[in-house]
Amino acid sequence: MSDEKRTTSAQHDLTDMGNDEFRDAAHTVADHVADYLERLESYPVLPRIEPGETRAAMSSAPPAAPEPLDDILSDYRTLIEPNITHWQHPGFMAYFPSVASGPGILGEWLAAGLNSNVMFWRNAPASTEVEQLVVDWMRQMLGLPDDYDGMFTDTASISSMLCIVAARHAIPGLDSNQRGLAGRADVKPLRIYVSAEAHMSIEKAAIVAGIGRDGVRHIDVDDRYRMRPDALEEAIAEDREAGLQPFCVVGTLGTTSSAAVDPAAELARICERERLWLHLDAAYAGAAALIPEKRSHFDGWEHADSIVVNPHKWMFTPFDASLLLFRDASHFRNAFSLVPEYLRTDVSEDVRNFNEYGVQLGRRFRALKLWMQIRYFGVDGIVARLREHCRMAREFASWVDAADDWERLAPVDFGLVCFRHRPTGLAPAELDEHNERIMGRVNRDGRVYISHTALSGRLTLRAVFGNPRATMEHVRTCWRLLQEASSGADQVPTS
Ligand SMILES: *Cc1c(COP(=O)(O)O)cnc(C)c1O
Repeated sequence: MSDEKRTTSAQHDLTDMGNDEFRDAAHTVADHVADYLERLESYPVLPRIEPGETRAAMSSAPPAAPEPLDDILSDYRTLIEPNITHWQHPGFMAYFPSVASGPGILGEWLAAGLNSNVMFWRNAPASTEVEQLVVDWMRQMLGLPDDYDGMFTDTASISSMLCIVAARHAIPGLDSNQRGLAGRADVKPLRIYVSAEAHMSIEKAAIVAGIGRDGVRHIDVDDRYRMRPDALEEAIAEDREAGLQPFCVVGTLGTTSSAAVDPAAELARICERERLWLHLDAAYAGAAALIPEKRSHFDGWEHADSIVVNPHKWMFTPFDASLLLFRDASHFRNAFSLVPEYLRTDVSEDVRNFNEYGVQLGRRFRALKLWMQIRYFGVDGIVARLREHCRMAREFASWVDAADDWERLAPVDFGLVCFRHRPTGLAPAELDEHNERIMGRVNRDGRVYISHTALSGRLTLRAVFGNPRATMEHVRTCWRLLQEASSGADQVPTS
Protein backbone atom coordinates (compact mmCIF):
# COMPACT_ATOMS: atom_id res chain seq x y z
CA MET A 1 0.00 0.00 0.00
CA SER A 2 1.37 3.42 -0.89
CA ASP A 3 1.72 6.01 1.86
CA GLU A 4 -0.88 8.11 0.06
CA LYS A 5 -3.43 5.31 0.54
CA ARG A 6 -2.59 4.87 4.22
CA THR A 7 -3.19 8.52 4.98
CA THR A 8 -6.80 9.65 5.43
CA SER A 9 -8.94 11.91 3.29
CA ALA A 10 -8.91 14.59 6.02
CA GLN A 11 -5.16 14.83 5.56
CA HIS A 12 -5.71 15.82 1.94
CA ASP A 13 -8.63 18.24 2.23
CA LEU A 14 -8.63 21.52 4.14
CA THR A 15 -10.20 20.39 7.43
CA ASP A 16 -8.79 19.13 10.70
CA MET A 17 -8.56 15.44 11.46
CA GLY A 18 -12.09 13.96 11.27
CA ASN A 19 -13.93 13.17 14.48
CA ASP A 20 -14.11 9.40 13.97
CA GLU A 21 -10.44 9.26 13.10
CA PHE A 22 -9.62 11.41 16.11
CA ARG A 23 -11.62 9.13 18.41
CA ASP A 24 -9.82 6.01 17.14
CA ALA A 25 -6.42 7.64 17.32
CA ALA A 26 -7.12 8.96 20.82
CA HIS A 27 -7.84 5.41 21.97
CA THR A 28 -4.61 4.25 20.38
CA VAL A 29 -2.68 7.02 22.10
CA ALA A 30 -4.34 6.19 25.43
CA ASP A 31 -3.16 2.60 24.94
CA HIS A 32 0.34 3.84 24.13
CA VAL A 33 0.50 5.80 27.37
CA ALA A 34 -0.95 2.99 29.48
CA ASP A 35 1.52 0.55 27.86
CA TYR A 36 4.35 2.94 28.59
CA LEU A 37 3.43 3.20 32.25
CA GLU A 38 3.16 -0.59 32.38
CA ARG A 39 6.56 -1.24 30.79
CA LEU A 40 8.43 1.59 32.52
CA GLU A 41 10.70 -0.77 34.36
CA SER A 42 11.73 -2.56 31.19
CA TYR A 43 13.71 0.60 30.41
CA PRO A 44 16.92 1.73 32.09
CA VAL A 45 16.09 5.00 33.86
CA LEU A 46 18.85 6.69 31.86
CA PRO A 47 18.63 5.76 28.17
CA ARG A 48 21.80 4.28 26.73
CA ILE A 49 22.25 6.74 23.90
CA GLU A 50 24.83 9.25 22.80
CA PRO A 51 24.16 12.92 22.06
CA GLY A 52 22.85 13.40 18.51
CA GLU A 53 21.61 9.82 18.03
CA THR A 54 17.91 10.58 18.28
CA ARG A 55 18.04 13.48 15.89
CA ALA A 56 20.14 11.55 13.39
CA ALA A 57 17.49 8.81 13.29
CA MET A 58 14.84 11.29 12.09
CA SER A 59 14.31 13.06 8.81
CA SER A 60 16.26 16.32 8.86
CA ALA A 61 13.77 18.00 6.51
CA PRO A 62 10.08 18.45 7.41
CA PRO A 63 7.71 16.19 5.44
CA ALA A 64 6.06 18.07 2.56
CA ALA A 65 3.22 15.56 2.17
CA PRO A 66 0.96 14.02 4.84
CA GLU A 67 2.32 10.92 6.53
CA PRO A 68 0.22 8.04 7.89
CA LEU A 69 -0.51 8.45 11.58
CA ASP A 70 0.56 4.83 12.18
CA ASP A 71 4.05 5.65 10.92
CA ILE A 72 4.28 8.71 13.13
CA LEU A 73 3.19 6.79 16.22
CA SER A 74 5.50 3.96 15.37
CA ASP A 75 8.48 6.33 15.24
CA TYR A 76 7.32 7.84 18.51
CA ARG A 77 7.31 4.36 20.02
CA THR A 78 10.76 3.35 18.76
CA LEU A 79 12.72 6.61 18.54
CA ILE A 80 11.34 8.86 21.26
CA GLU A 81 9.78 6.83 24.07
CA PRO A 82 12.82 4.62 24.78
CA ASN A 83 15.28 7.48 24.49
CA ILE A 84 14.06 9.85 27.15
CA THR A 85 15.27 9.86 30.73
CA HIS A 86 12.34 8.21 32.46
CA TRP A 87 11.11 10.62 35.12
CA GLN A 88 8.09 8.36 35.68
CA HIS A 89 10.32 5.34 36.48
CA PRO A 90 10.09 4.18 40.10
CA GLY A 91 13.90 4.02 40.11
CA PHE A 92 14.25 7.73 39.30
CA MET A 93 15.69 9.04 42.58
CA ALA A 94 17.74 11.95 41.22
CA TYR A 95 17.21 15.72 41.69
CA PHE A 96 13.63 15.99 42.97
CA PRO A 97 10.72 13.82 41.86
CA SER A 98 8.53 15.08 39.04
CA VAL A 99 5.96 12.36 38.55
CA ALA A 100 2.68 12.53 36.63
CA SER A 101 -0.16 10.61 38.30
CA GLY A 102 -2.85 8.85 36.27
CA PRO A 103 -5.63 11.33 37.15
CA GLY A 104 -3.21 14.21 36.58
CA ILE A 105 -2.42 12.93 33.07
CA LEU A 106 -6.15 12.62 32.34
CA GLY A 107 -6.67 16.22 33.48
CA GLU A 108 -3.84 17.34 31.20
CA TRP A 109 -5.51 15.56 28.27
CA LEU A 110 -8.85 17.21 28.99
CA ALA A 111 -7.18 20.61 29.20
CA ALA A 112 -5.52 19.96 25.84
CA GLY A 113 -8.91 19.18 24.31
CA LEU A 114 -10.51 22.34 25.69
CA ASN A 115 -7.49 24.48 24.80
CA SER A 116 -8.85 27.12 27.17
CA ASN A 117 -6.53 30.10 27.32
CA VAL A 118 -6.85 31.49 30.85
CA MET A 119 -6.10 35.16 30.22
CA PHE A 120 -9.15 36.74 31.79
CA TRP A 121 -12.60 35.72 33.02
CA ARG A 122 -14.47 36.75 29.86
CA ASN A 123 -12.52 34.41 27.60
CA ALA A 124 -12.05 31.66 30.20
CA PRO A 125 -14.87 31.79 32.76
CA ALA A 126 -14.98 28.25 34.16
CA SER A 127 -11.21 27.81 33.86
CA THR A 128 -10.59 31.05 35.74
CA GLU A 129 -12.94 30.02 38.54
CA VAL A 130 -11.53 26.49 38.76
CA GLU A 131 -8.07 28.04 39.06
CA GLN A 132 -9.27 30.31 41.89
CA LEU A 133 -10.96 27.34 43.56
CA VAL A 134 -7.98 25.00 43.32
CA VAL A 135 -5.59 27.71 44.53
CA ASP A 136 -7.84 28.03 47.56
CA TRP A 137 -7.99 24.23 48.05
CA MET A 138 -4.21 24.18 48.01
CA ARG A 139 -4.06 27.05 50.48
CA GLN A 140 -6.29 25.11 52.87
CA MET A 141 -4.31 21.91 52.34
CA LEU A 142 -1.08 23.74 53.14
CA GLY A 143 -2.62 25.18 56.32
CA LEU A 144 -2.26 28.81 55.27
CA PRO A 145 -4.69 31.54 56.43
CA ASP A 146 -7.44 32.76 54.11
CA ASP A 147 -5.79 36.08 53.39
CA TYR A 148 -3.59 34.13 50.93
CA ASP A 149 -4.55 34.08 47.32
CA GLY A 150 -2.59 33.16 44.23
CA MET A 151 -2.29 31.57 40.83
CA PHE A 152 -0.54 28.87 38.86
CA THR A 153 2.55 29.48 36.77
CA ASP A 154 4.78 27.08 34.87
CA THR A 155 7.76 26.80 37.22
CA ALA A 156 9.15 27.97 40.55
CA SER A 157 11.74 29.98 38.65
CA ILE A 158 9.01 32.07 37.04
CA SER A 159 6.93 32.24 40.26
CA SER A 160 9.93 33.60 42.16
CA MET A 161 10.76 36.03 39.39
CA LEU A 162 7.24 37.48 39.53
CA CYS A 163 7.59 37.82 43.31
CA ILE A 164 10.92 39.64 43.05
CA VAL A 165 9.42 42.05 40.53
CA ALA A 166 6.36 42.59 42.76
CA ALA A 167 8.66 43.14 45.74
CA ARG A 168 10.69 45.65 43.78
CA HIS A 169 7.53 47.44 42.74
CA ALA A 170 6.42 47.61 46.38
CA ILE A 171 9.45 49.78 47.30
CA PRO A 172 7.88 53.17 48.08
CA GLY A 173 8.65 55.87 45.54
CA LEU A 174 10.61 53.63 43.19
CA ASP A 175 7.89 53.42 40.52
CA SER A 176 10.11 51.00 38.64
CA ASN A 177 7.49 49.64 36.25
CA GLN A 178 7.01 53.12 34.83
CA ARG A 179 10.46 54.67 35.17
CA GLY A 180 12.80 51.68 35.06
CA LEU A 181 16.00 51.64 37.09
CA ALA A 182 18.79 52.55 34.71
CA GLY A 183 20.33 56.00 34.85
CA ARG A 184 18.46 57.14 37.94
CA ALA A 185 20.47 59.12 40.47
CA ASP A 186 17.67 58.70 43.04
CA VAL A 187 17.91 54.88 43.14
CA LYS A 188 20.32 53.16 45.48
CA PRO A 189 21.62 49.71 44.51
CA LEU A 190 18.94 47.18 45.49
CA ARG A 191 19.67 44.15 47.64
CA ILE A 192 18.05 40.71 47.96
CA TYR A 193 19.16 38.28 50.68
CA VAL A 194 19.23 34.51 50.21
CA SER A 195 21.05 31.73 51.99
CA ALA A 196 24.22 30.31 50.52
CA GLU A 197 22.15 27.21 49.72
CA ALA A 198 19.36 29.01 47.82
CA HIS A 199 18.30 27.93 44.34
CA MET A 200 19.95 29.73 41.44
CA SER A 201 16.52 30.79 40.16
CA ILE A 202 16.63 33.73 42.59
CA GLU A 203 19.77 35.04 40.91
CA LYS A 204 18.09 34.61 37.55
CA ALA A 205 15.13 36.62 38.86
CA ALA A 206 17.58 39.33 39.94
CA ILE A 207 19.03 39.35 36.42
CA VAL A 208 15.58 39.86 34.90
CA ALA A 209 14.47 42.44 37.47
CA GLY A 210 17.43 44.71 36.77
CA ILE A 211 18.95 44.07 40.19
CA GLY A 212 21.79 41.97 38.85
CA ARG A 213 23.61 39.08 40.46
CA ASP A 214 25.70 41.56 42.44
CA GLY A 215 22.47 42.64 44.11
CA VAL A 216 21.97 39.16 45.60
CA ARG A 217 23.78 38.72 48.91
CA HIS A 218 24.36 35.18 50.12
CA ILE A 219 24.00 34.66 53.86
CA ASP A 220 25.91 32.00 55.76
CA VAL A 221 24.16 28.83 56.85
CA ASP A 222 24.41 26.87 60.09
CA ASP A 223 25.61 23.28 60.43
CA ARG A 224 22.25 22.07 59.09
CA TYR A 225 22.42 24.32 56.02
CA ARG A 226 19.78 26.79 57.28
CA MET A 227 20.13 30.53 56.84
CA ARG A 228 21.55 32.15 59.99
CA PRO A 229 19.18 34.93 61.10
CA ASP A 230 21.98 36.68 63.03
CA ALA A 231 24.11 36.78 59.89
CA LEU A 232 21.12 38.11 57.94
CA GLU A 233 20.59 40.94 60.42
CA GLU A 234 24.26 41.86 60.29
CA ALA A 235 24.27 41.88 56.50
CA ILE A 236 21.21 44.13 56.32
CA ALA A 237 22.70 46.59 58.81
CA GLU A 238 26.02 46.60 56.98
CA ASP A 239 24.34 47.23 53.61
CA ARG A 240 22.17 50.05 54.95
CA GLU A 241 25.30 51.58 56.41
CA ALA A 242 26.99 51.31 52.98
CA GLY A 243 24.11 53.16 51.28
CA LEU A 244 22.46 50.16 49.61
CA GLN A 245 18.73 49.51 49.60
CA PRO A 246 17.68 46.16 51.06
CA PHE A 247 14.16 45.25 49.85
CA CYS A 248 13.66 41.48 49.89
CA VAL A 249 14.62 38.33 51.76
CA VAL A 250 14.14 34.96 50.09
CA GLY A 251 13.98 32.06 52.50
CA THR A 252 14.22 28.52 51.19
CA LEU A 253 11.97 25.94 52.83
CA GLY A 254 13.60 22.77 51.53
CA THR A 255 16.86 23.63 49.78
CA THR A 256 17.74 21.89 46.56
CA SER A 257 20.93 20.28 47.84
CA SER A 258 19.78 18.94 51.20
CA ALA A 259 16.13 20.03 51.81
CA ALA A 260 17.25 22.33 54.64
CA VAL A 261 14.53 24.62 55.98
CA ASP A 262 15.36 28.25 56.72
CA PRO A 263 13.72 29.51 59.94
CA ALA A 264 10.65 31.21 58.47
CA ALA A 265 9.39 32.68 61.76
CA GLU A 266 12.67 34.42 62.46
CA LEU A 267 13.01 35.65 58.90
CA ALA A 268 9.45 37.00 59.13
CA ARG A 269 10.31 38.91 62.31
CA ILE A 270 13.35 40.47 60.70
CA CYS A 271 11.45 41.39 57.54
CA GLU A 272 8.63 42.93 59.54
CA ARG A 273 11.04 45.04 61.56
CA GLU A 274 13.16 46.04 58.55
CA ARG A 275 10.14 46.51 56.25
CA LEU A 276 11.39 43.98 53.71
CA TRP A 277 9.40 41.69 51.45
CA LEU A 278 9.63 38.04 52.51
CA HIS A 279 9.45 35.50 49.72
CA LEU A 280 9.61 31.80 50.59
CA ASP A 281 10.79 29.23 48.06
CA ALA A 282 9.20 25.93 49.09
CA ALA A 283 9.23 24.48 45.57
CA TYR A 284 9.99 20.94 46.68
CA ALA A 285 9.31 20.62 50.40
CA GLY A 286 6.20 22.79 50.54
CA ALA A 287 4.10 19.71 49.77
CA ALA A 288 5.15 18.32 53.16
CA ALA A 289 3.03 21.01 54.83
CA LEU A 290 0.08 18.81 53.88
CA ILE A 291 1.29 16.29 56.47
CA PRO A 292 0.09 17.45 59.90
CA GLU A 293 3.15 16.14 61.76
CA LYS A 294 5.49 17.91 59.32
CA ARG A 295 3.80 21.28 59.45
CA SER A 296 5.98 22.61 62.25
CA HIS A 297 8.86 22.86 59.74
CA PHE A 298 6.86 25.67 58.16
CA ASP A 299 6.07 27.63 61.31
CA GLY A 300 5.97 31.31 60.51
CA TRP A 301 5.53 30.96 56.75
CA GLU A 302 2.05 32.43 57.13
CA HIS A 303 3.75 35.83 57.55
CA ALA A 304 5.42 35.74 54.15
CA ASP A 305 4.43 38.13 51.39
CA SER A 306 4.74 35.38 48.80
CA ILE A 307 5.33 31.62 48.72
CA VAL A 308 6.01 29.18 45.93
CA VAL A 309 5.20 25.44 46.08
CA ASN A 310 5.51 23.19 43.02
CA PRO A 311 2.77 20.55 42.71
CA HIS A 312 4.79 19.23 39.77
CA LYS A 313 7.54 18.25 42.18
CA TRP A 314 6.22 16.29 45.13
CA MET A 315 2.49 16.17 44.43
CA PHE A 316 2.51 13.93 41.33
CA THR A 317 1.07 16.66 39.12
CA PRO A 318 2.13 16.45 35.48
CA PHE A 319 4.74 19.01 34.55
CA ASP A 320 4.18 21.95 34.64
CA ALA A 321 2.38 23.40 37.65
CA SER A 322 3.86 25.85 40.13
CA LEU A 323 1.66 27.41 42.78
CA LEU A 324 2.39 31.04 43.58
CA LEU A 325 0.68 32.30 46.73
CA PHE A 326 0.57 35.93 47.78
CA ARG A 327 -0.95 37.81 50.66
CA ASP A 328 -1.73 41.03 48.86
CA ALA A 329 -2.78 40.55 45.24
CA SER A 330 -2.66 44.29 44.62
CA HIS A 331 1.15 44.27 44.70
CA PHE A 332 1.16 41.91 41.73
CA ARG A 333 -1.61 43.72 39.92
CA ASN A 334 0.07 47.08 40.42
CA ALA A 335 3.34 45.68 39.16
CA PHE A 336 1.98 43.93 36.07
CA SER A 337 -1.46 45.14 35.01
CA LEU A 338 -1.69 46.63 31.55
CA VAL A 339 -5.06 46.56 29.83
CA PRO A 340 -5.02 47.83 26.24
CA GLU A 341 -8.29 48.55 24.47
CA TYR A 342 -8.35 45.22 22.61
CA LEU A 343 -8.40 43.34 25.94
CA ARG A 344 -11.02 45.47 27.71
CA THR A 345 -14.15 43.51 28.63
CA ASP A 346 -17.60 44.44 29.81
CA VAL A 347 -17.41 42.20 32.88
CA SER A 348 -17.33 43.92 36.23
CA GLU A 349 -14.21 44.62 38.24
CA ASP A 350 -14.66 41.77 40.71
CA VAL A 351 -13.74 38.93 38.38
CA ARG A 352 -10.16 37.76 38.32
CA ASN A 353 -8.24 38.47 35.16
CA PHE A 354 -5.17 36.38 35.76
CA ASN A 355 -3.01 37.97 33.05
CA GLU A 356 -2.91 41.16 35.11
CA TYR A 357 -0.93 39.45 37.88
CA GLY A 358 2.06 38.29 35.88
CA VAL A 359 3.95 38.58 32.61
CA GLN A 360 2.09 36.07 30.45
CA LEU A 361 -1.07 37.05 28.62
CA GLY A 362 -1.95 33.55 27.39
CA ARG A 363 -1.94 30.96 30.17
CA ARG A 364 -2.46 27.19 30.24
CA PHE A 365 -5.42 25.72 32.14
CA ARG A 366 -3.19 24.05 34.75
CA ALA A 367 -5.74 23.92 37.54
CA LEU A 368 -7.80 21.21 35.84
CA LYS A 369 -5.25 18.43 36.34
CA LEU A 370 -4.94 19.33 40.03
CA TRP A 371 -8.71 19.55 40.46
CA MET A 372 -8.97 16.01 39.05
CA GLN A 373 -6.08 14.68 41.04
CA ILE A 374 -7.08 16.14 44.40
CA ARG A 375 -10.61 14.75 43.96
CA TYR A 376 -9.34 11.37 42.78
CA PHE A 377 -6.91 10.73 45.66
CA GLY A 378 -8.58 12.93 48.25
CA VAL A 379 -6.41 15.04 50.52
CA ASP A 380 -6.00 12.07 52.88
CA GLY A 381 -4.81 9.90 50.01
CA ILE A 382 -2.19 12.46 48.96
CA VAL A 383 -1.02 12.85 52.56
CA ALA A 384 -0.75 9.06 52.99
CA ARG A 385 1.47 8.85 49.91
CA LEU A 386 3.74 11.70 51.04
CA ARG A 387 4.04 10.04 54.43
CA GLU A 388 5.09 6.81 52.76
CA HIS A 389 7.85 8.65 50.87
CA CYS A 390 9.10 10.12 54.15
CA ARG A 391 9.10 6.62 55.62
CA MET A 392 11.13 5.27 52.69
CA ALA A 393 13.69 8.03 53.23
CA ARG A 394 13.91 7.26 56.96
CA GLU A 395 14.39 3.54 56.26
CA PHE A 396 17.10 4.24 53.72
CA ALA A 397 18.77 6.68 56.12
CA SER A 398 18.71 4.06 58.88
CA TRP A 399 20.67 1.65 56.66
CA VAL A 400 23.22 4.38 55.92
CA ASP A 401 23.50 5.16 59.63
CA ALA A 402 23.93 1.50 60.56
CA ALA A 403 26.71 0.85 58.03
CA ASP A 404 30.24 1.54 59.31
CA ASP A 405 31.64 2.71 56.00
CA TRP A 406 28.73 4.97 54.96
CA GLU A 407 27.81 8.33 56.42
CA ARG A 408 24.81 10.61 56.26
CA LEU A 409 25.52 14.25 55.47
CA ALA A 410 22.26 16.04 56.30
CA PRO A 411 19.11 15.56 58.40
CA VAL A 412 16.27 13.61 56.78
CA ASP A 413 13.03 15.55 57.28
CA PHE A 414 11.28 14.74 54.00
CA GLY A 415 11.93 12.31 51.12
CA LEU A 416 15.59 13.17 50.52
CA VAL A 417 18.69 11.42 51.89
CA CYS A 418 22.19 12.95 51.51
CA PHE A 419 25.03 10.51 52.12
CA ARG A 420 28.37 9.16 50.95
CA HIS A 421 30.60 6.15 51.17
CA ARG A 422 33.52 6.72 53.51
CA PRO A 423 35.89 3.80 53.67
CA THR A 424 38.93 4.33 55.89
CA GLY A 425 42.19 5.47 54.40
CA LEU A 426 40.99 7.81 51.63
CA ALA A 427 41.94 11.50 51.58
CA PRO A 428 39.09 14.05 51.06
CA ALA A 429 39.76 14.51 47.33
CA GLU A 430 39.95 10.75 46.86
CA LEU A 431 36.64 10.37 48.68
CA ASP A 432 34.98 12.72 46.20
CA GLU A 433 36.29 10.75 43.24
CA HIS A 434 35.42 7.47 44.91
CA ASN A 435 31.80 8.56 45.42
CA GLU A 436 31.54 9.93 41.93
CA ARG A 437 32.61 6.53 40.62
CA ILE A 438 30.02 4.84 42.82
CA MET A 439 27.32 7.09 41.40
CA GLY A 440 28.43 6.40 37.82
CA ARG A 441 28.38 2.69 38.42
CA VAL A 442 24.95 2.69 40.08
CA ASN A 443 23.49 4.82 37.30
CA ARG A 444 24.91 2.61 34.55
CA ASP A 445 23.01 -0.37 35.95
CA GLY A 446 19.74 1.21 34.79
CA ARG A 447 17.45 0.20 37.64
CA VAL A 448 17.90 3.41 39.60
CA TYR A 449 19.15 6.90 38.93
CA ILE A 450 20.64 9.02 41.73
CA SER A 451 22.30 12.43 41.60
CA HIS A 452 24.81 14.40 43.62
CA THR A 453 25.52 17.78 45.13
CA ALA A 454 28.23 19.44 47.22
CA LEU A 455 27.69 19.97 50.95
CA SER A 456 30.43 21.79 52.86
CA GLY A 457 32.69 21.12 49.89
CA ARG A 458 32.14 17.35 50.00
CA LEU A 459 30.75 15.43 47.06
CA THR A 460 27.41 14.20 48.36
CA LEU A 461 25.16 11.52 46.91
CA ARG A 462 21.42 12.20 46.93
CA ALA A 463 18.57 9.69 46.78
CA VAL A 464 15.05 11.05 46.89
CA PHE A 465 11.82 9.12 47.26
CA GLY A 466 8.61 10.70 45.97
CA ASN A 467 7.08 8.43 43.36
CA PRO A 468 3.75 6.77 44.14
CA ARG A 469 4.75 3.95 41.77
CA ALA A 470 7.83 3.10 43.86
CA THR A 471 7.80 0.51 46.64
CA MET A 472 10.23 -0.46 49.41
CA GLU A 473 11.64 -2.97 46.91
CA HIS A 474 12.96 -0.07 44.81
CA VAL A 475 14.48 1.51 47.90
CA ARG A 476 16.21 -1.77 48.75
CA THR A 477 17.45 -2.15 45.17
CA CYS A 478 19.03 1.29 45.39
CA TRP A 479 20.84 0.41 48.61
CA ARG A 480 22.00 -2.95 47.22
CA LEU A 481 23.36 -1.33 44.05
CA LEU A 482 25.20 1.25 46.13
CA GLN A 483 26.82 -1.43 48.22
CA GLU A 484 27.89 -3.44 45.18
CA ALA A 485 29.22 -0.31 43.51
CA SER A 486 31.11 0.74 46.63
CA SER A 487 32.96 -2.55 46.90
CA GLY A 488 33.98 -2.59 43.25
CA ALA A 489 33.96 1.06 42.35
CA ASP A 490 37.67 1.51 42.23
CA GLN A 491 38.36 -1.44 39.92
CA VAL A 492 35.78 -0.49 37.32
CA PRO A 493 36.79 1.58 34.30
CA THR A 494 34.90 4.89 34.34
CA SER A 495 33.89 4.84 30.67
C1 LIG B 1 13.42 22.78 41.91
C2 LIG B 1 13.57 24.03 42.63
C3 LIG B 1 13.39 25.26 42.00
C4 LIG B 1 13.17 25.39 40.51
O1 LIG B 1 12.00 24.79 40.09
P1 LIG B 1 11.46 24.99 38.61
O2 LIG B 1 9.99 24.77 38.77
O3 LIG B 1 12.11 23.93 37.77
O4 LIG B 1 11.80 26.35 38.15
C5 LIG B 1 13.46 26.40 42.76
N1 LIG B 1 13.71 26.34 44.07
C6 LIG B 1 13.89 25.19 44.72
C7 LIG B 1 14.17 25.19 46.20
C8 LIG B 1 13.83 23.98 44.02
O5 LIG B 1 14.04 22.82 44.67
